Amino acid sequence: MPASPAYKRVLLKVSGEALMGEGTFGVDMGVLDRIAGEVAAAARSGVEMAIVVGGGNIFRGVAGAARGMDRATADGMGMLATVMNAVALASAIEQAGAPARALSAIAMEAICGTLTRQRGLDLLAAGTVVVCAAGTGNPFFTTDTAAALRAAELGCDVILKGTQVDGVYDADPKVYPDARRFETLTFADALVRDLKIMDTAAFALARDNDIPIVVFDIHNPGALADVLTGAGRATLVSG
Ligand code: UDP
Repeated sequence: MPASPAYKRVLLKVSGEALMGEGTFGVDMGVLDRIAGEVAAAARSGVEMAIVVGGGNIFRGVAGAARGMDRATADGMGMLATVMNAVALASAIEQAGAPARALSAIAMEAICGTLTRQRGLDLLAAGTVVVCAAGTGNPFFTTDTAAALRAAELGCDVILKGTQVDGVYDADPKVYPDARRFETLTFADALVRDLKIMDTAAFALARDNDIPIVVFDIHNPGALADVLTGAGRATLVSG
């Protein structure tokens, strides 16, 4: 019998890169369906799931700015990229058998719903997976910051940050094979050691609102289910 979930309501951050799989651009449908299947299974087990999805697999504002675009304009494109991913993910979760809605911080009613806190809370309480699009709705932010913001306003117990590695290491494990993975860290440890867990604004929001962050490998099938039990290979960053 599967272990029971350790959390009632979670915020899962899925980067755009995670949806890209082995590719260099856009959405890998196989990866999308696998992640959606794991989310749907978690939702069916009773965990209330909000997701913030990134857009780096399509467009990043900083990259546009580096090529001469006005940064705020480029960030608008980046936010639109997250909407594409969110619509794709919500649709794949529904196909995998759990109710899901994409809600955008920037109104575009012909494509998806508009995110308000109350709408998000109502859907979560009803067991619908809420896929948050368009980040914070403002330029000069990232979807990591949006993840911390939505976790705080939607009353999530934890931020599950899906990455390419199975936790936080004392050095880059791809460069240093003997790098050590932390099982747990305090927010203060992470700051002192200058570990990049989320960007500064996101980290501050999570710390100030006492929301733990679990860093895990979203590419590892089954890892999401494991971290939802409070176990699995991951790093827990908390108070
Ligand atoms: N973005 C933004 N405001 C936000 C969140 C995101 O302007 O609140 C833009 C920004 O240009 C960013 C892009 O959307 O580069 C994609 O988000 P992010 O880079 O966080 O995606 P990820 O790295 O998670 O794929």
